[in-house]
Amino acid sequence: MKIIMLGAPGAGKGTQAKRIAAQYTIPHISTGDIFRANIKNNTELGQKAKTYMDKGELVPDELVVDLIMDRFKQADCTNGYVLDGFPRTIPQAEALDAALNAQGENVDFAINVEVPDENIINRMSGRRACVGCGATYHIKYNPTKVEDVCDACGEKLILRDDDKPETVKNRLSVYHEQTQPLIDYYEKKGVLAEVDGTKDMEDVFNAIVSVLGK
Ligand code: ADP
Ligand code: ADP
Ligand code: ZN
Repeated sequence: MKIIMLGAPGAGKGTQAKRIAAQYTIPHISTGDIFRANIKNNTELGQKAKTYMDKGELVPDELVVDLIMDRFKQADCTNGYVLDGFPRTIPQAEALDAALNAQGENVDFAINVEVPDENIINRMSGRRACVGCGATYHIKYNPTKVEDVCDACGEKLILRDDDKPETVKNRLSVYHEQTQPLIDYYEKKGVLAEVDGTKDMEDVFNAIVSVLGK
C-alpha cells in the first residue's frame, strides 16, 4: 500500500503516519526527518537543506526527489510506504507518479489531514522533538512522562527552530502556495481522502483506518 499524507505543517501527518506504519507494517518515510538527520550528521545534503529549512522555505525539488528515489530502493519499500512531507509541490508529485507509472504502479491513497491555520500556531509552539530519536510530543496534547525527557530514549526534548511562530507563519504561506494544490491533484486522480485533523489523535487515526480498511 502506497500512502501519502497531506496537510499543513503541524496538522498531525507525522503522528498519524507513525501509527499507519505500525498498523500496516510499511515504513514511515519523512523527508523532514531525513533532512534533520543529515543536518545532525553535518552532511553536504544537510548543509544545503538547512539554509532553506531555517527560513521555513522548501528545499529545491531536485534535492528532495533524488533523495526519495534513493530511499525507495531500500528493501523495506517492497510492500509500499507511508510518505510524510513528500510530495510538497506539483513537480514532486509528477516525479513520484512518473517513477511509479514506469513500474505499472500508482499512489493508493492521499490522506489530507485538515486543520485550519488558527489551530496551527498553537500546535507548533507546543510541539517538542527528541534530539536523540526524533520522536514528537506535545506539551499539552501528548506530554512525556517526565517533562522535557523523551519517553522512548531518555534524551532531551527541544522546540524546533522552525516551529517558532515567525517561521511557522512563513511555512503556512509556503504551504498554501505550493502544497495545497496537491489536494486537487490527488482528487482528480481519485485517491484523495479527507479527515478532520482537529479531532483527538485517536479519532483521527480511526477515521484513517476506516478509509484504508483493516
Ligand atoms: P512538518 O512535519 O512540520 O510539516 P517537516 O519535518 O515535514 O515539517 O519539514 C521541515 C522542513 O523540511 C520543511 O519546512 C522544508 O524546508 C523541508 N522539507 C521537508 N520535506 C520537503 C519536501 N518534500 N520538499 C521540500 N522541502 C521539504
Ligand atoms: P506534522 O507532521 O503534520 O507537522 P505532527 O504530527 O508533528 O504534525 O503534529 C504537530 C504537533 O501537534 C505535535 O506536537 C503533535 O504531538 C500534536 N498533535 C498531532 N495530532 C494532534 C491532534 N489530533 N490533536 C492535538 N495535537 C496533535
Ligand atoms: Zn527520543
